[in-house]
Parts: sequence; structure tokens; C-alpha cells
Amino acid sequence: MNQISELFGSMVFNDREMQARLPKETYEAVRRTVEEGKSLDSAVAKTVATAMKDWAVENGATHFTHWFQPMTGITAEKHDSFIAPKGDGVIMEFSGKELLKGESDASSFPSGGLRTTFEARGYTAWDPTSYAFIKDNTLCIPTAFYAYNGECLDKKTPLLRSMEAINRQAKRILRLFGDTETKRVTPTVGAEQEYFLIDKEMFQKRRDLVFTGRTLFGAKPPKGQEMDDHYFGTIKPRVLAFMKDLDRELWKLGVLAKTEHNEAAPSQHELAPVFTSVNTATDHNQLTMEMMKKVAEKHGMVCLLHEKPFRGVNGSGKHNNWSLSTSGGENLLNPGKAPQDNKRFLLFLAAIIKAVDEYQDLLRLSVATAGNDHRLGAAEAPPAILSIFLGDELTGVLDAMEAGKAYDEQEKEMMAVGVRVLPEFAKDTTDRNRTSPLAFTGNKFEFRMVGSSASIAEANIILNTIVADALSVFADTLEESKHFESDVDELIRTTYAAHKRIVFNGDNYAAEWENEAAVRGLLNLRTTPEALPYLVSEKNLHLFERHHIFTKDELLSRYEIQTEEYCKTLHIEALTMLEMTNRTILPAIEAYAKVVAENFEARKRVSKGGQGTKLLLENLYGVIDTLYAKSADLSELLAEAEKMGSGQKAAVFYKDFVCRAMDEIRLAADRGETLTGGDFWPFPTYAQMLF
Ligand code: ADP
Ligand code: MG
Repeated sequence: MNQISELFGSMVFNDREMQARLPKETYEAVRRTVEEGKSLDSAVAKTVATAMKDWAVENGATHFTHWFQPMTGITAEKHDSFIAPKGDGVIMEFSGKELLKGESDASSFPSGGLRTTFEARGYTAWDPTSYAFIKDNTLCIPTAFYAYNGECLDKKTPLLRSMEAINRQAKRILRLFGDTETKRVTPTVGAEQEYFLIDKEMFQKRRDLVFTGRTLFGAKPPKGQEMDDHYFGTIKPRVLAFMKDLDRELWKLGVLAKTEHNEAAPSQHELAPVFTSVNTATDHNQLTMEMMKKVAEKHGMVCLLHEKPFRGVNGSGKHNNWSLSTSGGENLLNPGKAPQDNKRFLLFLAAIIKAVDEYQDLLRLSVATAGNDHRLGAAEAPPAILSIFLGDELTGVLDAMEAGKAYDEQEKEMMAVGVRVLPEFAKDTTDRNRTSPLAFTGNKFEFRMVGSSASIAEANIILNTIVADALSVFADTLEESKHFESDVDELIRTTYAAHKRIVFNGDNYAAEWENEAAVRGLLNLRTTPEALPYLVSEKNLHLFERHHIFTKDELLSRYEIQTEEYCKTLHIEALTMLEMTNRTILPAIEAYAKVVAENFEARKRVSKGGQGTKLLLENLYGVIDTLYAKSADLSELLAEAEKMGSGQKAAVFYKDFVCRAMDEIRLAADRGETLTGGDFWPFPTYAQMLF
């Protein structure tokens, strides 16, 4: 199977397979489910299950699993064999019931108090809107994961609910514009994924990378990312082989991936898939991360998905490209050549502006993790402040509307240097707006705050829900309207006037923006613990309830999980740091200092010199003493933190005290690294790992 067209989707039970293998009525019932969100009956499921099993067995599968996305952010699987006894032998069996529903031990996944162990029943339910696929000889069935009482325990369920919400509200708007055709409005997403590749042997020598996914120590190499290609060249053939292999593995799974180099940091790369429905895009991104790790191993490397594996080197994120597509295939965020006349587009745009301004907190929260805290605002990634980049032309159109003026040629020329056609406009501006957390890029929004290791589900749950909410408010108004056209204009105008503070076309990395944003009254939630309490505010709880995304209990459980995850991450990092300091770094510096001390004695005997050696010795002793003192401090802080549990109070304590103590240890250890003989240093340095 060398032909790419043959390879692509060969491990996916996709539309082509279903059409070929299912009776016409069954196939159509499945299509209706996918296209219109109709539910599926058990007779249909039975037929699908048999066809799916036959296809899977023909393609080498022996097992099946309900593949789901618990709140840990990774994916989970529970494998079962197709084999059932029959007479003296076995047959391959798979029932409709096994396809539709599975039972899983809910207590072994985080539930934030929703499930206790004695009532641990959890279910997985087939999501027919995302294709089943074969991985490791196992038929993987994408499923939602929920508790006995229906409370969701995963990331897919709320994502599907948010898709329903935006479908419902967007269609109300389309109907008002006279569209009677569109059956469904679906968010489309293309998630560009950044990652690092490093040598596996080096990785294994670093306990920080092994335990935490990031380096907790490491002095800046003499040359950083300003230096590229020429050192980079040495690992290139291996990386290229990896990329080729990864592409093939992903293509088999129906992920339309294109891996490519990213020059931003040494050893950092990027993969961009072709966009698809947000549900599939989320599944595909999970698969992409999994495959990256697997394929890297095969090539003697390790794929790092952490947001900030190396201090002082660019971190990794995901660019979540988001738009809305009708069942007829129309992109609702395509402004066309004359956006000023495209009122439907401008109304959707206004809804997004309103949504982002009103729910800055939720968007910030959707990307809040301990890992991403190292990245956001680090003059390489967007800051923690939400804003929207619209570009000169769209801003001009909206400004003109607000002022009650026509958006005329003259103005356009003054403003947009004669660039009128949007594809060109997009090309022209993407380079200049790389600093924006949420940029309009021609016919979609690019949300750039998402961390590289995160599931994209959260970000899209929030995008879908908040835009659905703004659209519902618009629909409420317009459905009562007697003068539709002028009321649409008025709505765009007043919405823009009320929310334009969120629009910022300038440099988001600049220090002045932080001040300016404060003047505008925008939120600046620098860290996860600062953002977390906003999740459960009255305003946000009502939003989620209004659109049936989360119940109060579900929301509280998520808050609990996110807070606990933050505390746990920092706790593990701090423990790893202590272990490395006490068991490898200090012994290394002590050993080197001993050699230096002996040498100093020897030099004293020969001559009166040895001042340089003496100075080195003093510095080494200084580092050693600092490390002993600071690690004692950190141990004490950790003991204190542990007493606080893993709630908000503990999270703030970790951020304020534990982080600072860790920084102090790192500072001393990194200085130790630059003073200590290379042969003595117990693990690979930045320069060794990155170049
Ligand atoms: P840009 O040049 O703006 O980065 P690309 O064409 O390279 O745009 O696309 C970047 C990512 O955006 C890709 O993953 C692509 O699939 C995705 N994308 C393009 N159009 C859409 C859309 N309508 N909805 C969602 N994602 C999209
Ligand atoms: Mg991009």
C-alpha cells in the first residue's frame, strides 16, 4: 500500500466503508445521525456493529475498545477481545450493545467528587459522529464517558453539547436571513501542533524530563535559538525519517497531516492538519499526540509535548483555527470581497466580539494549566490577556458602521494601503499579528493560547458555547424585529461600540499593551490559580446551564479537578527537583569541588599562585551552601502545602511560595552547572540536548 490515496483512511471505518458495507437504510440512518444529530436505534446499531467487526477483522483487528477522553486530558482504552466461544472453537463476535455502550470503572478516572469508589459505575457510549478506526490491531470506537446518573466525566460529552448549542443558535440567525436549507451548522477546527524531538538516550538521563516532561534545570547554552540550521543539520535526517513515518501513520487513521519544520526553536517542529468538524479534529489531535510519541520512540527519539520543556527557548502551543460551516459547505466566517455589504458575516463577527469580551475569563481558563503558565506572556506566546485581532480592513468597516458612515473607497485606501481582496489581506497581515491570542486570519479565527499538551476540547467547548450565547441574544432581538435590515445594522453597531475594547491590532508582546489593557478594563489572569475561581462564578454557571453544557455539579467537579491537577503538577515538579538536587547535582558539585580543592593545595605547594583556583573553589562552595539551604526551604514548604490539600488555597500557595523556592534552587544549580567540569555534570545539558 504505497499509494497515498490508498493509504489514507485505510484504518478508518469511514463513510466510504459504511456505504459499501451497510444496507442502504442503515447507512442512511447513520448519516442522519451524523448530519442532523438524530439518535440511533438499537436495530441499526446491531447491523453497524456486525459490518464494523467484519471490516476490522479483515484488517487484522482482534480486539475492540471504547476509546474515550477522561478529564486527565489523555485518552483511555479498555480492550476486549472479539472472541466468543462456540462449540469447540471460537467465533469473532461484536454486538450492537457492545458498540453502543460499555461499562468502565469510573472511580479510576478523576471525577472531582462526582464518583466515589463505591458507586463507581461509569459508561461509555458510541459517538457515531466520529469514525471508528484500527490502532494496534484494535478497533477503537470513539465514545463519550459518563457516570451512572448521566453526569459527564469526559471532554467529549460537553464538546458535543456545545456543538449542539451553537448549531441551535446559529440556525436561528440563518433562518432570519432567509436560509431555509441549512440543516446543521458545525464548528470546523484545524489544530496546528507544536512539539520538540530529542534524543531518547539523553531524555532517559534526565529525571526531570522523565517525571515532569520539562527540564527543571539547565543553564542557557552559549548560543540559543538565534543560531539555527547549521547545528540543527546533524539531526535532520532522523527527524525527516520520523516525519515521513508519522505522516503515514496519521494518514492511515484518516488524519490529513502535513508535518513541517518550524524554525522558531532548535529541535522544535510543527504539524498542521487539514481542518474538519471540531469533534473529529479533537479526536484527531489526541491521536496525533499519541502517534508522535510512538513514532518518535521507533526512531530513537522522544517527543516532548510540554508547553515549556526548556527555559529560555520558545515553548510549544497549538493554534486552534476555528470557524463555522453550514451543512451546505459554506464557511460563515468568510467575509467575501466586500465585507461591508455582508451583513450576515458582520453579525456573526459581532457575536464573536461580544462573546470574547464577555467571557475573557472562560477563554483564559480553557488554556490554564501549570505547564502553560510558563508560556503565556513569555514574550514568545500570546499574553494571558485576551484580545482579538481583526486587521485594518474589518476594523475599518466596523468603525465606519459605528460612526454611521459608509465605508468608502477613500477611507479604505488610506487605511489598507489599497489592499482590498481578502485572501491577500490575510496573507499580508498574518505575519504582523503573530502576537495576538485570537486572530482573524481571512476566514477563520486562530486561537493561539492553547497549550501543546492540552486537549483542544476545552478551548472549543468555550468558543462554541460563548458564541452560541451571543447568537442567542441576537436571535431573541431579531426574531421580534419589524425592520430586519436596519435592526441588524443597529445590532452590529451597538455590539461593536459596547465591546470594541477587546479588539487590539497592535503588538501583544509589548509591555505597553499590559497597561493599555488595564486601562480598557480587560482581565489579566497571569496564572492558573488566579484564573481558576472564575470558572464557578454565577455568570459562568448560568451560561453553562442556559446552553446545557454543564450542570452545577459537573462544573464544580471540573473546577476541583483542574485545581487538583495544578497542585499535583507542582508537587511532583518540586519533589523531582529535590531529588535531583540532593542525589545528583550536589554530589557532582561536591566531587568536582574536592578535585579543585586538591589542586589548590597542590598549587600552593608549588608556588604562591592559585588565586583563580581559589576563587573557583569559593564559588563552588557558595553554590553548594545555597543549594543545601534552599532545598531545605523547599522541603518545608512542600510539607506545609501538603497540609492544605489540593484546593484553591493550596494552589495559590504553590504558585506564590513553592514556585519561588524552585526558581531559587534552579538559579543556584544552573550557576553550579556553569562552574562545574563538564565530565562531572550528572545529566545532559541544554546544548547537548538541543543541538
Ligand atoms: P494560515 O496561512 O492562516 O496559517 P492555513 O491555510 O495554513 O492558514 O491554515 C492553518 C490551519 O487552519 C490549518 O490547519 C487549516 O486546516 C486550518 N483552517 C483553514 N481553514 C479553516 C476553517 N474554515 N475552519 C477551521 N480551520 C481552518
Ligand atoms: Mg498558525
